Amino acid sequence: MLTTNPETRPQDITIDRTAGVMKILWLDGHTSEFPLRWLRANCPCATCREERRAAALAVADPLRLTAAPPPSTEVTGAEFVGQYAIRLTWSDGHATGIFPFAALRASCPCPACNPEGAPPLVMD
Ligand SMILES: [Zn+2]
Ligand SMILES: [Zn+2]
Repeated sequence: MLTTNPETRPQDITIDRTAGVMKILWLDGHTSEFPLRWLRANCPCATCREERRAAALAVADPLRLTAAPPPSTEVTGAEFVGQYAIRLTWSDGHATGIFPFAALRASCPCPACNPEGAPPLVMD
């Protein structure tokens, strides 16, 4: 079970809204700092994944002159989903993104985990 793995189980989570980061201290002692902007850009909900797919396709469409306003990167709430994930609520009301801890740990942006920078969240 992933939930018994100390690498993917948080000991402490701090969402620092001033600094714009979510810090996770994992049970194995490692700390990850995820920029809220990055978390929103990687929102794993079906709607956002579909929007990202559409946005990628729209680059080739010269008639698409307007872009949606940028999504909120301000967190107004957070709650655990069982022991395996955290759900974030953003100030624009978006609250369907559930971030599994295993995926977050795999995308830890620190140079020791991902020297090339944080990879996109892998959900499956
Ligand atoms: Zn979303
Ligand atoms: Zn790391």
